[in-house]
Amino acid sequence: MTSSPVSPRIVFVTGGNRGIGLAIARTFAKLGDLVIVSYRSGAAPDGLVGVQMDVTSQESVNAAFAEIEATYGSVDVLVANAGVTRDGLTMRMSEEDFISVVETNLTGTFRTVQKSISPMVKKRSGRVILIGSVVGLMGSAGQANYASTKSGLIGMARSLAREYGSRGVTFNVIAPGFVETDMTSTLSETLREKYVAAIPLGRFCSPEEIAEVVKFVASPEASYITGAVIPVDGGMGMGH
Ligand code: NDP
Repeated sequence: MTSSPVSPRIVFVTGGNRGIGLAIARTFAKLGDLVIVSYRSGAAPDGLVGVQMDVTSQESVNAAFAEIEATYGSVDVLVANAGVTRDGLTMRMSEEDFISVVETNLTGTFRTVQKSISPMVKKRSGRVILIGSVVGLMGSAGQANYASTKSGLIGMARSLAREYGSRGVTFNVIAPGFVETDMTSTLSETLREKYVAAIPLGRFCSPEEIAEVVKFVASPEASYITGAVIPVDGGMGMGH
């Protein structure tokens, strides 16, 4: 059953100062939601409310949530988007390269999700959307660290979907393919052409195309979707 959206919802987008997170934040803002973005360094983008937060620090996450709750109220929709890559073939990957990606993408996501769910459970409503990746299911040479974290998000979302489904909170993973952001801007032309050749739609995705799917998953129309991995990958994964 669906109901009309109750606006403004409080939407918190981690890593919402640029790339996919910024597109998601602007999409919710257009709907009239109260959008808060976290930024690690610098400042909030024009027109958006910002809170400084580094997901690798529990203290920083605690402080950010305390500030949000004191100023605006508890989060209704969490989009856990902050993420990093530190690519390299496994034989040459340092333990630090592995652990630092886990700290941000997996443990960092856990920290923000954990801080969000208690008020959602109390309100018996909430949406948690984790930004995974197509490589969490397909694997990716040179990304054993990154792909492990993105697979881990699926286990996290599905466990939480089981823990809190009866309390009206949904947990889903969006799995983008290649998206035009700073993260992919460093790819060489040769690699880019190779990747595009493996994408049935024959191009990279725009951040706005990811944002539209996140918007749907957070909408009343998506009320019966939980524990899902939703690909937005131009056909690259095809069920993987
Ligand atoms: P960008 O590199 O453009 O942006 C990453 C964002 O994460 C920035 O806002 C950055 O903040 C933030 N961030 C990184 N580390 C931390 C931290 N320790 N604490 C808080 N914030 C942090 O990446 P994209 O927009 O491309 O990626 C966003 C998400 O989408 C990531 O989870 C990524 O894995 C995923 N994704 C991206 C794909 C792509 O092709 N681009 C494909 C599939 C998934 P700051 O500006 O301060 O560095």
